[in-house]
Amino acid sequence: MHLGVFNLTAIFFIFVFVIAEFVTQLEYKAQKQGKTILRIGQLEPSTKICSECGYYNRDLNLSDRDWICPDCGIHHDRDINAAINIRKFALDRQNLIGI
Ligand SMILES: [Zn+2]
Repeated sequence: MHLGVFNLTAIFFIFVFVIAEFVTQLEYKAQKQGKTILRIGQLEPSTKICSECGYYNRDLNLSDRDWICPDCGIHHDRDINAAINIRKFALDRQNLIGI
């Protein structure tokens, strides 16, 4: 199946709209329950930074599900490391912790 440029553009805008609506609903629900939504930039390198020492792993590929930091030697599960970094980025942006 070939998707034309128009169809790809339409799909992109639908995707952006759906994500924006999801965030709006999430913020609404959070506000109702007295919770805070923290954001990070979508291009933050959360998977490539060692959450322990801050080393930036340029050689990490999408297929690498875990890796060992060459600087501090800690073993990382890619997703757990990213989750820790995302939390740090969000808290740092809100000035809630110092990194
Ligand atoms: Zn490290």
